[in-house]
Amino acid sequence: MIRTVGYAAKHSFTGLHRYEFEREEARPNEVEIEVLFCGVCHSDIHQVKNEWSNTVYPCVPGHEVVGRVTKTGSAVTRHQVGDLVGVGCMMDSCRKCEACQSGEENYCEGPNSWLATYNGPMVPAAKSPDNTNTYGRDNTFGGYSTSLVVPEDFVVKIPTGLAPEAAAPILCAGVTTFSPMRHWKVKAGDKVGILGFGGLGNMAIKLALALGADVYAFTSKSEKINEATRLNATGIVEDDEDALAAHKGSFDFILSTIPEKHDLNPFLTLLKRNASLVVVGALEPMKPVNNQLVAFRRNSIGGSLIGSIAETQEVLDFCAANGIAPDIEIIDIANINDAYSKVEKGEVRFRYVIDMSTLRRD
Ligand code: NDP
Ligand code: ZN
Repeated sequence: MIRTVGYAAKHSFTGLHRYEFEREEARPNEVEIEVLFCGVCHSDIHQVKNEWSNTVYPCVPGHEVVGRVTKTGSAVTRHQVGDLVGVGCMMDSCRKCEACQSGEENYCEGPNSWLATYNGPMVPAAKSPDNTNTYGRDNTFGGYSTSLVVPEDFVVKIPTGLAPEAAAPILCAGVTTFSPMRHWKVKAGDKVGILGFGGLGNMAIKLALALGADVYAFTSKSEKINEATRLNATGIVEDDEDALAAHKGSFDFILSTIPEKHDLNPFLTLLKRNASLVVVGALEPMKPVNNQLVAFRRNSIGGSLIGSIAETQEVLDFCAANGIAPDIEIIDIANINDAYSKVEKGEVRFRYVIDMSTLRRD
């Protein structure tokens, strides 16, 4: 067993505290990773606070993990000791269903769906069609910890040219915004809107610009307009009705990263004929949509869940090739509870990344 130190929430109301536990040694197809940096995603907060009503406690969050391989199982061929690697939201999937066979493990249709890096299978045994537990575990502990053990196929390579701390947010925020832009074929010259200017929004703006789009960031805070300008995007305060009216019917693609239920109707009016608005932020029922707005321009409303392992590698390589890195603030693990409240208030610029050496010192 591997003695591991992490930060865990014991209940929805306790916040995160130091927590010692043991991980199983790497199996033949697995690698052991020393965690160097871990990004703080808003999903970590939803999960810790049980806002999706599915949290298994204790909860050790963290799914934007960058580290070094310290051990490889006997059958591992893709990674070597010393490699700089990344782990995102998934650490396994059924590998047999049509989605897995097509390289879209993030839509795994196995009885337990994919195995999340923390909080266990996406469909727990109790809710799977035949009460199965494909992965033999009810919970998993993520990257707010000193080490991680992960099947090699779910470990990606951090390309040279990306700083390890900057690579961390790409593993969730990056791939979650890149995957829908690829699927809905965002291309050079498109007019793209990003709703919610936080961790995902920051990556979405940079990726869309690199794809050649003309990018608009919609924010609730006027002080973020300058931040949009700094990134070469145009900032719009989302309740500025005159600004919305000026852009009516002009967008090719809009991506919403707003982390809770919100009204899409004001933004649907901005879409061109045949254009799509895709929601990745709010994983919950939304306010009702006026289908008259959608039908009159044959628009589509979509959703998207993280991205595949291949897309995760693709977005890392894309960022390295295009000089893209998220704007981050590095924090000590001891400040994690304060960081959570700042993320909830929209005060982070734009992603907190935990320096995990502060956990070893702790
Ligand atoms: P952040 O908190 O970093 O950013 C969200 C931004 O949305 C804020 O900066 C703020 O921007 C705006 N916002 C609007 N309403 C609120 C509110 N009530 N509370 C806080 N922010 C608000 O979050 P992330 O970018 O890390 O994540 C965004 C959402 O995406 C989360 O809900 C997360 O769970 C989800 N997610 C979904 C994934 C998927 O696969 N579909 C994968 C990863 C994350 P502004 O100040 O500009 O108004
Ligand atoms: Zn995330």
